Amino acid sequence: MERPGPTKPEVPAALADIKSGEARFRRIIENNADGMLVVSGDGVILYANEAAERLLNRRRSELLGHAFGIPTLAGETTEIDLPWCEGAPRTAEMRVVETEWEGRHVRLASLRDISDRKRLEDELRQKIAELALADQRKDQFLAMLAHELRNPLAPILNAVHVMRLRGDDPELRESMRDIVEEQVRCLARLVDDLLDVSRITQGKIQLRREPILLRTLVKRSIDAARSLLQAKGHRLEVTLPDEPVKLWVDPIRLEQVVVNLLNNAAKYTDPGGRVELEAELEGDHVEIRIRDNGIGIAPEMVEQVFGLFTQVDHSLARTQGGLGIGLTLARNLVHLHEGTLTTQSKGLGRGSQFTLRIPSARVIDEGAGAPTRTPSVGHGRPKRILLVDDNTAAAESLRLIVKLWGHECRVVHGGLEAVEAVGIFRPEVVLLDIGLPGMDGYTVAKAVRANPHVQALTIIAMTGYGRDEDRARAYAAGFDHHLVKPLDLEVLERILAQLDHQATPGSGTGEARAVNDHQAARADALDRESCG
Ligand code: ADP
Repeated sequence: MERPGPTKPEVPAALADIKSGEARFRRIIENNADGMLVVSGDGVILYANEAAERLLNRRRSELLGHAFGIPTLAGETTEIDLPWCEGAPRTAEMRVVETEWEGRHVRLASLRDISDRKRLEDELRQKIAELALADQRKDQFLAMLAHELRNPLAPILNAVHVMRLRGDDPELRESMRDIVEEQVRCLARLVDDLLDVSRITQGKIQLRREPILLRTLVKRSIDAARSLLQAKGHRLEVTLPDEPVKLWVDPIRLEQVVVNLLNNAAKYTDPGGRVELEAELEGDHVEIRIRDNGIGIAPEMVEQVFGLFTQVDHSLARTQGGLGIGLTLARNLVHLHEGTLTTQSKGLGRGSQFTLRIPSARVIDEGAGAPTRTPSVGHGRPKRILLVDDNTAAAESLRLIVKLWGHECRVVHGGLEAVEAVGIFRPEVVLLDIGLPGMDGYTVAKAVRANPHVQALTIIAMTGYGRDEDRARAYAAGFDHHLVKPLDLEVLERILAQLDHQATPGSGTGEARAVNDHQAARADALDRESCG
């Protein structure tokens, strides 16, 4: 009886299955996007797919039969530095499984390039750290700002209180008034600095270059810094080149820088110290060095002091009433002049030096072309002025001033009232607040300009917004001048007086405007410096 043969015919079929399974397996790993390596138990590469050739930067012939050199531990995912790669180091994630390969027990390692992900992760981590630092600085800054803004308020309130109690004593009244004025200027200066920083970071500061003598610039800066230097009993030594040196700079901005450096030297030096200002012509550059024998700067802080809101010592006792924006502003302003501002210090307690380097203009005769402030022009012919401000205290105080200048002044507090009052009171000048309830200043100006019966009217904006786009918006709405609060009274007085010589008031010629706004900026800056 024939028994069925054992399993003879089945063997080739099973083999064929295994073979075709292996072939499929090979195809899969060959086409895998990850690098695939088969490594023997003793670390020799038995197989590499195309992706592995690319990752390892080696041809298959250079890989097969060679040691991989990196331990392959089954079941673990590890990050490895890819061997043999050229240029920047690359990282891969490696997973290893144990398997059979051509009848041998081997390890199958998959390699995935994660260099780009790693780089992004590193960048992200760095950004997070930077943001955290910026956030921390901002918090410190806000605390400091609140403190600094509150500082001038107490003396103002006190002075007002004294005036209320002893308003009949002219001498006392006068000195209280001086206190209020000085403190308000300090507040205005803080706000100006803040705005400057924001404009600089947005690239919105434009220099108004003029020829000026180095000597004039230094003298003005010293005049502005003198009160602080004197208050701390410092000795100031100045060395200037013998020959006249001409600069082609924005005198207000550069003065702001030098004053800042002098004030810092005064602030960060113990009373009775020495401050030196040394200016030298070096080729086609001028170098101004401001040196003190004060508290100095630790080496690790030397570059940092130029960072926004950076203060070496945050305790209020040591910050000397600053916001940590002075040097940021100063360096940016110097960069706008194609110059550099650097600092050197031998360390804490060993004084500091700040070195300002800017290109010089050619050498000229002494006495030439240093701009001077336009003298006051008096009040001019009395005018009818309509004053529009919803802040009654501000309106009333300005009304008194304008009346003292000899003008007739009427006050209204709202936009609609203003439009009506223009028709009835027929002013020659409207002093118009922009932020008004209901109808804002822009709309009032447009409405007034649209009225064919209103001619020869000068409209002056009084606003808290001093950015270039705010000015542009005001001019587009029909304003002739744009003054930032608190108003510089000298500039307002000059604008009013100049109307007597203007052929068509209300025409708002760009030129007249430019002159006035420049004067405003100038007077603004001069005022700022005067509060030390
Ligand atoms: P502020 O003086 O308002 O704090 P600045 O930007 O002008 O801000 O200066 C930043 C910091 O640099 C100061 O807080 C101070 O720590 C340091 N610094 C500036 N000038 C000097 C100086 N001449 N000597 C020592 N430290 C200085």
